[in-house]
Amino acid sequence: MARLTMKFGGTSVGSPEAMAQVIKSIGGQLAAGHEVAVVVSAMAGVTDMLLASAAAAAKGDREGYSSINAALADKHARAITALIADPAEREAAQGEARQLLAEHQELCAAVQVLGEASPRITDSLLSFGERLSSRVIAAALCARGLTAAQVDSQHYIITDNNFGDAEPLWQESESRIVEGLLPQLCAGITPILTGFIGATPDGVLTTLGRGGSDFSAAIFAACLNSDELIIWTDVDGVMTADPRVDSRARVLPYVSYQEIGELAFYGAKVLHPKTVQPIINRGIPLRVRNTFNPAHEGTLVGARPQASATVIKAVTSIRDVSMLTVSGRGMLGVPGIAGRTFLATANAGANILMISQSSSEQSFCFTVVHPLAPTVKAAVETELEREIQQRHIDSVDLLADIVIITVVGAGMRGTPGVAGRVFSLLGERRINVLAIAQGSSECSISFIVAENDLERAVSSLHSLALETVENDRVNGVGSPY
Ligand code: ADP
Ligand code: ASP
Ligand code: MG
Repeated sequence: MARLTMKFGGTSVGSPEAMAQVIKSIGGQLAAGHEVAVVVSAMAGVTDMLLASAAAAAKGDREGYSSINAALADKHARAITALIADPAEREAAQGEARQLLAEHQELCAAVQVLGEASPRITDSLLSFGERLSSRVIAAALCARGLTAAQVDSQHYIITDNNFGDAEPLWQESESRIVEGLLPQLCAGITPILTGFIGATPDGVLTTLGRGGSDFSAAIFAACLNSDELIIWTDVDGVMTADPRVDSRARVLPYVSYQEIGELAFYGAKVLHPKTVQPIINRGIPLRVRNTFNPAHEGTLVGARPQASATVIKAVTSIRDVSMLTVSGRGMLGVPGIAGRTFLATANAGANILMISQSSSEQSFCFTVVHPLAPTVKAAVETELEREIQQRHIDSVDLLADIVIITVVGAGMRGTPGVAGRVFSLLGERRINVLAIAQGSSECSISFIVAENDLERAVSSLHSLALETVENDRVNGVGSPY
């Protein structure tokens, strides 16, 4: 018997048919004698609809948010009708959904009165997606005679008040999970937990950032001391590239925690970047698998360094970023300019995705998400006003329509010439590289190119990854099975 934490993403609970598959999968693990904690996302598209309802309410568009509310009611009612046959059980589930949606409508009305959707209210509005989907799944499991119970995670995942991207307070969360949730699991109850949401110590709802249900699942896996975390999604595993960017993408049988950390940070949407944080120290294996193709073993993510000869394992990209360059001859020898720039950026609420400095110390550049770039530029200019006046700094320039491309693979460490191969290949394709950075872990190299070059750059580097993955397959290495 093993203790498993399983997370099902938006597409996996996106329709009654998909939910039926999820129920079968949970039932299968329970029948095999495993203890299972389940974490679910909102039904696909629902979080976006809730965001749109917040925007409509803030604009005073009552018709707009009411029609979203009605569409959400219809979507969940149809799932309940399809999955629960017993009239009394079905009506009980419909009643719970109706009650939540009435709350959603009320909250939208409150936003309309305020004329603004603060981050705090937005988080409360976004929470309805997971609160609804988890109730549908739990009710459907109970209707099949399984001992499941819907659980709202805000009672267990306690966070700071950084609404929209809240950070868990580890000790508080762990003690609540160990004291409140673990006994239920041990008593044979299968909790169906809401992904994505938490609450501040005084009970105000927060969210962990878009795609954050993966992170929620990892927190529960760690605190429940699970033997394995399984992320069920809509692709066969972690792939050599985003299959939507390059259809040749292949599933990687094994990646290390470190590699997945880089891949997720640099744009592989398949996992939230924080997912491995909670499980890395406890060495809990993570498996990424396809709800719709359960026969496929998926990707195993673990601690050991790869058994593979592969140098470049995968290529990722991030769109919608902008690059800021601070330059000036007078910067040489003026200490603290970079530090002040990065602090001003952080104070403007932006995360830095990549930093690169020229060796002459006459300029450095960094990238932030596109929508925040003008605010960051203004904040940096204010911070460096004196140096700009004194002409130590010539300018703070903003470049849009660029992308970050990253090649990832732990085998790069200690393999000379990888960067050379990457950049000469781009040179041959006449792709202009605007800036370069190597991760300190030496398992990734990131660089910036114009947005127009994205597909060409990814596909030529992806060919390198595919070559090495194929070598591994032929040589029988790189697979954990
Ligand atoms: P879920 O709703 O299950 O959390 P997501 O949509 O968040 O699923 O993530 C899965 C998607 O991530 C896939 O459908 C795929 O299009 C995308 N993706 C991007 N890069 C990769 C990659 N390297 N490997 C696998 N999938 C990727
Ligand atoms: N439902 C949330 C989102 O769409 C969280 C998640 O699916 O992981 O971002
Ligand atoms: Mg996701």
